[in-house]
Order: sequence, then C-alpha cells, then structure tokens
Amino acid sequence: MHQGYCQCQSIQYSFANDPFDCCYCHCSICRRLTGSAMGSYGSVPKSEFTWTKGEELLSTFQQNTTTRRLFCSLCGSYLLTMHSADKNNNFISLGCLETKIESRPEYHQFVGSKAGWDTNTDNLAEHEGWADWRLKEKP
Ligand SMILES: [Zn+2]
Ligand SMILES: [Zn+2]
Repeated sequence: MHQGYCQCQSIQYSFANDPFDCCYCHCSICRRLTGSAMGSYGSVPKSEFTWTKGEELLSTFQQNTTTRRLFCSLCGSYLLTMHSADKNNNFISLGCLETKIESRPEYHQFVGSKAGWDTNTDNLAEHEGWADWRLKEKP
C-alpha cells in the first residue's frame, strides 16, 4: 500500500498500486495553487483510494463544472484533484506522497502557460495544452 498526507498530517490517504499517467502541469492555475513552477500529478483509481484520516478536514475548491481540487483546511496542502472527464480516477499531488513509487512523470502539459523563469531541462514530451488523452476525454 502507498500512503500520503498533508503537511500537518491531519489528512492521510492510502491506495494500492503505483500511480499511472504521471505528469507535470504548468498551467497558470496549477502554478498558483502550488506556488511553484508546476503541479505534479498521478492518476489513482478511485476504487483503490481511501482517506485513512481527517477526510472531514478537506477543503474544496470547485474550480469550474469539471474540476474540483481538495486541500487541507488546516495547513493548505493541495492533496488531490477530481476531473469530471475521468470519473474513475483521482489525480493525486505527487508531492504529498510518503511512500516510494516506481512510476515517474511522463510528460509536461500546458507548457504554453509556463512561467517565464521556468525552463524544462528533461527530455519528456511537452504539450502546449492538455495532453492528447485529455483532449479526447474532455467534455
Ligand atoms: Zn494539513
Ligand atoms: Zn494545471
């Protein structure tokens, strides 16, 4: 089992298998929500995901009709995203993981919105906006 938690550890979760479709998102929303160059995410099936502590302390940012982002109401850690385009999976923020995973981010998305001071130094694929599978799935 994998575990993750927010900075103050009031909210904790677990899930069974390595996240898949891991990526970096440079869109302006992810930049601001993380206060950083990008968000780092991985997909975890909702059927394998459990809040093990503090679920009642989650705070919700309903960004629009398709995207919901969950935070710790005490420490502000950005834990998880839900997209209506993919009802089967949660998108965990990889920075909140505690256990080691084998999967690695496979691509960058929304590089068209990245900060002027942000330079990608890896050789991963870059998508101007959504990665292809999301374009297809997008409502
Ligand atoms: Zn917290
Ligand atoms: Zn984003």
